[in-house]
Amino acid sequence: MTRKRLVAGNWKMNGTRAANSGLVAKIAAGVAAHGAEVAICPPAVYLESVGQALRGTAIRLGAQTLCEQDQPGAYTGEIHGAMLRELGCEYVLVGHSERRLIYGESDALVARKFSAAQACGLTPILCVGETLEEREAGATETVLQRQLDAVLAAGGIESLGKAVLAYEPVWAIGTGRTATPQQAQDVHAFLRGYLASLPSGQGARIAAALRLLYGGSVKVDNAAALFSQPDVDGGLIGGASLKAEEFVAIVAGAGG
Ligand code: PEP
Repeated sequence: MTRKRLVAGNWKMNGTRAANSGLVAKIAAGVAAHGAEVAICPPAVYLESVGQALRGTAIRLGAQTLCEQDQPGAYTGEIHGAMLRELGCEYVLVGHSERRLIYGESDALVARKFSAAQACGLTPILCVGETLEEREAGATETVLQRQLDAVLAAGGIESLGKAVLAYEPVWAIGTGRTATPQQAQDVHAFLRGYLASLPSGQGARIAAALRLLYGGSVKVDNAAALFSQPDVDGGLIGGASLKAEEFVAIVAGAGG
């Protein structure tokens, strides 16, 4: 099964309007020649300006989170998926560990956001991952399964047919500590295998087609080795996506 690689940059809440505009211009100029799909998730307040800069390029626009409610309305501060679509977003991160751990998003809330994204025509990039304590306690697979099960309970395996899954071990995000290619491959194979094993006529097909990104301190030096693993279909890049040259080099390493 050939899965088109995806490299998504998560700029988190960094930079100014001018810095975001400068960064997107350099990235757009640099990645044009490469075969992987590329997406950029800037801070919400810069989605419009970054989206304008991306017009006419093949780079997709993504948001970092969204409101879980069915309709826009009296939800102070929340940004609804319909608004994100209007700004040109195609992707949205759901369940990033910073949302789960700093802002207390539960598995159930993440599942509602996942469904809300799809209801608006956005493709959710569902982030799952274990903390260091959980890994050291041997609970990695239990945690990932629990995070996935919440989404499966809401939308079934079919909902993953229109989504991307990102494995982001919390201990590797922004820490400079990366999962080894083998560690990433082992977890990705577990995730794909778990989905394929679900009692649904569609499970095996959907699991085989699902793109699984790795995220956690991906840099130029380790990207190619991670992306060469059979179940790693690209990356979700935080810190390194804020440096245009490095991000472009990572995209180049992802190939087609
Ligand atoms: C992230 O924020 O999703 C991420 C993977 O960050 P970093 O690449 O900086 O570890």
